Amino acid sequence: MYDYLVVGSGLFGSVFAHQMKQAGKYCLVIDRRNHLGGNIYCENIEGINVHKYGAHIFHTANREVWDFVNKFVQFNRYTNCPIANYKGKLYNLPFNMNTFYQMWGVTTPEQALAKIEQQRAIARQTIKGEPQNLEQQALLLVGHDIYETLIKSYTEKQWGRPCAELPAFIIRRLPLRFVFDNNYFNDPYQGIPIGGYNKLIDALLDGIETKTNVDFFEHRDELTGVAKKIVFTGPIDQFYDYCYGHLQYRTVRFEQETLNMPNFQGNAVVNYTDSETPYTRIIEHKHFEMFGVAVEQCQKTVVSREYSTEWRPGMEPYYPINDERNSAIYARYRHLAEAETSVLFGGRLAEYKYYDMAPTVERALDLSMKEICN
Ligand code: FAD
Ligand code: UDP
Repeated sequence: MYDYLVVGSGLFGSVFAHQMKQAGKYCLVIDRRNHLGGNIYCENIEGINVHKYGAHIFHTANREVWDFVNKFVQFNRYTNCPIANYKGKLYNLPFNMNTFYQMWGVTTPEQALAKIEQQRAIARQTIKGEPQNLEQQALLLVGHDIYETLIKSYTEKQWGRPCAELPAFIIRRLPLRFVFDNNYFNDPYQGIPIGGYNKLIDALLDGIETKTNVDFFEHRDELTGVAKKIVFTGPIDQFYDYCYGHLQYRTVRFEQETLNMPNFQGNAVVNYTDSETPYTRIIEHKHFEMFGVAVEQCQKTVVSREYSTEWRPGMEPYYPINDERNSAIYARYRHLAEAETSVLFGGRLAEYKYYDMAPTVERALDLSMKEICN
């Protein structure tokens, strides 16, 4: 008899199982995929760690979480500085003095602010009060030029909906700065595990029993009996047999290519912000872990083009769509989950919430602490 059956070996399940093992509990971790690690899993191709389920950059302002992950693996100095390609012209992201210089030729913060204020004033002529959607929010935040060049088409490709129908908060995630600083995040701690994310997962799950290629739902009856409690990190609607309907997601199709050249685009992330290019971005994986001469020393490179599409059953669920319909359905599943005494739900799919890695670690640490104190 195990103390916990952990369904899903992603970051949530792995952190939880590790903490419980430290507390002397006996866990079995299963995953339906043929590998451990969930979406942070990397495949090594030509000596390059390829982020199989999309680019993952660890960043946090939480010192406790940063110290926790650094106990298992050292992080490198990678700082995310994506480039935007709009019809062949390149711009720095997030929106900062470099972007404003490239957009308008302005060279001082005063000039940049004046330009943005001018465009905000035009937006305020038609938008009264609080912004009601992403389009209004973007126009009030950065004005027409940046909205049209760097936001509108990228966002509509990513979400498959007009900006005027998307919630305003999505765009508030991006920093707006009047300094020459291309760091995409405001967090003080950032990096990629040296040697890749698998090292982190392997260290977390060291000494814990794991089984891959095991789908909980295919063995539900027998698995339910093997442990005192279940920690479920898969989709919550599936756990309840979709009794209130399917939750919706956006998903991403990755078109991966190994190229016979050392350096394809000179940066890990290039976003294509025009509407004509069908993909949203190209990731060149080696730049997450290889810097300076190391880039040229590795003769090959691996790139992934990301195509954002609507999720359908059978596809990988990636981005929860937190609109009214889905939030209402999730609330009903949550209500069922709260009544469970021997099943705990956690992580991105079970909580139907877009958690970055650091908040995922934080949530798993919290849940394990609650269990230890119980
Ligand atoms: P997951 O990693 O999804 O793990 C859940 C696991 O459960 C999976 O392995 C799955 O196979 C397994 N499972 C599900 N159902 C069953 C079942 N029935 N039986 C057995 N096993 C099952 N975060 C960042 O901080 N920085 C980033 O740059 C970043 N980029 C991202 C890019 C993309 C495209 C996506 C989708 C996410 C990104 N994230 C990023 C978020 C990050 O992936 C998550 O925070 C993290 O993976 C959440 O871990 P999890 O364990 O909750 O979920
Ligand atoms: N965004 C954009 N242009 C870009 C990058 C991002 O308009 O070049 C918008 C887009 O709407 C996206 C949001 O900013 O959903 C948040 O960006 P982030 O990089 O945080 O997206 P995610 O992590 O969700 O992929």
